[in-house]
Amino acid sequence: MSTPKRYLITSALPYANGLKHVGHLAGAYIPADIYARYLRAQKRDVVFVCGSDEHGTAIPIQATKEGTTPRAIIDKYHEAMKQDFEDLSMSFDIYHRTSEPLHHETAQEFFTYLNDRGELEVKETEQYYDKEAKTFLADRYIKGTCPNCGSDRAFGDQCETCGRTLSPDELINPVSTLSGKTPIKKKTSHWYLPLGKHEQFLREWILEQHKDDWRATVVGQCKSWIEGGLQSRAVTRDLEWGIKVPLKDAEGKVLYVWFDAPIGYISATKQWALNNNKAWEPYWYDKDTQLVHFVGKDNIVFHCIIFPVMLKLHGNILPANVPANEFLNLEGDKMSTSRNWKLDMRDYINDFVKKENGGGQAVDMLRYYLTQIAPETKDSEFMWKGFQDAVNSELVSIFGNFVNRTWVLMHKLCGGKVPKLHEDLLDENDRSLMEEIKNAKTKIEGLLEEYKFREALFEVIDLSRKGNQYMQKKEPWIVAKQLAENPGVQKSIDNTMHLCLQLTANLAIFINPFLPNTAKTMIQMMKVVDKMLDWENAGKIKLLSVGYSLREPQLLFRKIEDAEVSEQIEKLKSNLIMNEPVKSNTPEPAPQSTDQPVNKSTIQFDDFAKIDLKVGTIVAAEKVEKADKLLKLSVDLGFETRTIVSGIALHFKPEDIVGKQVTVVTNLSPRKMRGIESNGMILIAEDKSGKLHFINPENAIDTGSNVS
Ligand SMILES: [Zn+2]
Repeated sequence: MSTPKRYLITSALPYANGLKHVGHLAGAYIPADIYARYLRAQKRDVVFVCGSDEHGTAIPIQATKEGTTPRAIIDKYHEAMKQDFEDLSMSFDIYHRTSEPLHHETAQEFFTYLNDRGELEVKETEQYYDKEAKTFLADRYIKGTCPNCGSDRAFGDQCETCGRTLSPDELINPVSTLSGKTPIKKKTSHWYLPLGKHEQFLREWILEQHKDDWRATVVGQCKSWIEGGLQSRAVTRDLEWGIKVPLKDAEGKVLYVWFDAPIGYISATKQWALNNNKAWEPYWYDKDTQLVHFVGKDNIVFHCIIFPVMLKLHGNILPANVPANEFLNLEGDKMSTSRNWKLDMRDYINDFVKKENGGGQAVDMLRYYLTQIAPETKDSEFMWKGFQDAVNSELVSIFGNFVNRTWVLMHKLCGGKVPKLHEDLLDENDRSLMEEIKNAKTKIEGLLEEYKFREALFEVIDLSRKGNQYMQKKEPWIVAKQLAENPGVQKSIDNTMHLCLQLTANLAIFINPFLPNTAKTMIQMMKVVDKMLDWENAGKIKLLSVGYSLREPQLLFRKIEDAEVSEQIEKLKSNLIMNEPVKSNTPEPAPQSTDQPVNKSTIQFDDFAKIDLKVGTIVAAEKVEKADKLLKLSVDLGFETRTIVSGIALHFKPEDIVGKQVTVVTNLSPRKMRGIESNGMILIAEDKSGKLHFINPENAIDTGSNVS
């Protein structure tokens, strides 16, 4: 495949109604930044755009909440988000905003272009109208009971409790949030994008052309949208806040935020071009531009289906890829703004970045962990303990350790200068290290080009691991002990240190897209210019010249202490409690399950992982003499049959449960009950009425299957 002439990289426009959390950062921002930095190091023509999404009903709603105006809300959060991104070393070429006049014009022109060519349909529908407030009600302004879960906290577009997407018509007992009154239905006209007309195009473009080079999760989601039937989608709505529909008979109507927001990428590119005296058009019209949208999975439909249809109709290029990430959970639970179960970028900045000089180390530690756990193929989990492990046992102990050892030894054994490489004395270990350095370039490059950032980063760390192994084999500090008797061994020391230094220079190039601050510290230590970080230098062995004197080592990363981890977890929990009052309908502790307190304290994933759970099949059951609550069970676990004593005799008849599958904790230490040794425990759920239920697979599966 030939290299495209230019690249346009976009990160999803964050919505300006609140601070963004690290889940957002991991999903749409860090991967895009890695990619953009890599392309720049390759000296390719790349523009990386982002900006604040400042329209939609959530903005005026947030304004009401904070007792201020929509304008004040977007100004506040635009500035805050922009600052957060800067503090975390995001390298946007422009961070724009959709409230800019340039964006309004661009979005209006887009609408007019489509409308003039008959690509939009006008439909009259009945929508909820608040007579008292004299306004049509956007979805978020209607509250009611969820038809799915019965929660009374459902909005016209989504139920906050069960997460189901809703339309206002589905709500039971709808109420206007403006007046608290029941709204009436009133007729209104809107413009629609008839997606159904483009089904064939979408099928061919996504399901055939991109079925192999796009992520399977992305293609899968598109497929289900397409096969579910593509409905026409309203591109306008009745609202005050937003971009006015540029037509005479459209009083009180604005463009729907989903329509104007992605056009924000175009207006951002225009503003960047104006700022830099460049032309923006090639980035959106020239087929030799590679357009890549980085988004979270909730944005797939907009960037793979809706926006591409708009782009096609408008004569623009289509995205070459949409490497969407799945979600990042936090300490065992879904991140949630309403429950305040989240880690805002700002929180991390305040607690880690601001507390050190310069802040680069802490930024890179977060970038490292978020890339290492990036939810590229499935949801993943931010755990503070995992963060600590990643920093302490990988960044500090492997990468940082290699660089530091190299520097200390080079100063001690080679007088602080790059020693000579004696080619005639190269041994097997030296040659294989040189080979590894060369191969690393091909591997890392290939993975980055395929948007596999997590694996690419693994390769970088792995290369530093190989550096440590190499040094361990060569032991230059041991060899140095022979110097007094045999000065000739200095050549061998020189070779080892020369190669370790060249490897360090390569590591700086490889780590640069991921951890730019670390790369910067490394080039300071090497006393070289930024240009050394150009990708074309990667894989080369002669980056540092012989005899060149290098600076003193600087510590690249610090360790994360246990206290910091527990402090963060405590903070998270106390925030959650402050925001979510304990529910009044907490179930009573069940009478017999005295060993099961209702609320248990949080455990680490590692603790949970210690529990070995398997599906077993009850092959025999009998009552235990003189113990009316106990049953003695024989449970087949596939590899063996165990005796398990269980306190369920008042609930189950032995003859009824033979043949049933159950979930068994298989690695509990054995316990004697009434003289019988019980080897394991079966899991039981108790419902409100006190009835017990086995926890078993939906359909019978192989005995001995693991449960996790
Ligand atoms: Zn619900």
